[in-house]
Amino acid sequence: MTTYDCAIVGGGMIGAATAVALADLGLKIALIERFQPAAFEVNGTEPFDLRISAISLNSQQLLETLGAWPYIDQSRICQYKRLGVWEDDFAYTEFNAQEIGRAHLGYMMENRQIQLALWQVIQQHASISLLAPEQVKQFTNKADQVTIELGEQNITAKLLIAADGANSQIRQLANIGVTGWDYAQSAMLINVATSIEQQDITWQKFYPTGPVAFLPMPGNNASLVWYHNKAEINRLAALSNEQLAVEIANSFPEKLGEVNVLGKGAFNLTRRHANHYVSGRVVLLGDAAHTINPLAGQGVNLGFKDVKALQMAMAKAIGEGKAFDDPATLASYERARRSDNLMMMSGMDAIYQTFTHQSPVVKFVRNLGLFAAQRAGKLKSKALAYACGV
Ligand SMILES: Cc1cc2nc3c(=O)[nH]c(=O)nc-3n(C[C@H](O)[C@H](O)[C@H](O)COP(=O)(O)OP(=O)(O)OC[C@H]3O[C@@H](n4cnc5c(N)ncnc54)[C@H](O)[C@@H]3O)c2cc1C
Repeated sequence: MTTYDCAIVGGGMIGAATAVALADLGLKIALIERFQPAAFEVNGTEPFDLRISAISLNSQQLLETLGAWPYIDQSRICQYKRLGVWEDDFAYTEFNAQEIGRAHLGYMMENRQIQLALWQVIQQHASISLLAPEQVKQFTNKADQVTIELGEQNITAKLLIAADGANSQIRQLANIGVTGWDYAQSAMLINVATSIEQQDITWQKFYPTGPVAFLPMPGNNASLVWYHNKAEINRLAALSNEQLAVEIANSFPEKLGEVNVLGKGAFNLTRRHANHYVSGRVVLLGDAAHTINPLAGQGVNLGFKDVKALQMAMAKAIGEGKAFDDPATLASYERARRSDNLMMMSGMDAIYQTFTHQSPVVKFVRNLGLFAAQRAGKLKSKALAYACGV
């Protein structure tokens, strides 16, 4: 039976980043993933994936530190410098990278690109064993180690790290409960070709039924996000691409210009927060620990902060001659991340509640809030710096 320091379940963006971050501390890692991500076609003509994330400066920095950034195909990502938010036109608020002394605010990137770049690093890392396709059947959480039963073999590890996403099997097997709910809104992701050339702005306009957002992609491409109640999203999802383009023209702001719909997919939105991030020798990270309303595109960025916090907690323990799996070390990881994740989740919910409220008084006040935010000077820059993770 092979023995590892850490067995990580889930080789998505967060699990793969965790594997590299902990292997860089000298730990022996097994990364267990049920699906091999497909490589992009070499001729570079493959359409953009639907699953795109707004990657903050902080997350970019982590990907650089982990050595994954050079493997990102720059022709498939889009830098953005400005972020526009508004409901009524008079209250248009724009955040600019210059306000925080940066050249850009982040990148729009396909999730698969990030995962593949990290997998390239993993494949060259002598201390990471990639077990894929592979799944956990069950595990036993003992005082000194975890025994994990996989499809064809059993392994042992000091820690079992769950990065297996929102419906985490490991979280459930470890009997870690969650608090949360399903939002009344769903979201539709729509890949489009735009009539307007490459843009450096991402924007979001709020309607009482939910916001619509524009995420720029390279060339004349963009990803649109349309939030609405579930019934309406289901209706839109059933339309042909041509019919959907007509609905977009009727519902999105004029500044979008004309679009051709290239692909679409609907997603339910849920909030989940694990009651514990650590239980015995099981540790949760990323969506396994928390799922957040994607309104401000923070989900994976919070997950990357988890990765950094766990790496730092373990590095400190190792530096002080303690065990990396010491309960106090794991507790310090949870302390470092729980309140920050909770604050971001609650912040998104406050925005969600405020902007879906139908009262004209609330509408007036929220537009006044945006109007004031545009003129809030240092406070505005501070909020922007926090959202970018710098
Ligand atoms: C509509 C929408 C838009 C979003 N937009 C943004 C955005 O702009 N910016 C942002 O930061 N975040 C965004 N998010 C959130 C972001 O997608 C998630 O936070 C992120 O994907 C979480 O990464 P993860 O690695 O924790 O989990 P996942 O991406 O779910 O990866 C989990 C991995 O574990 C594997 N796995 C699962 N179960 C098992 C098992 N039993 N055994 C082995 N492997 C397993 C899966 O195959 C997968 O590879 C958005 C989410 C939604 C729904």
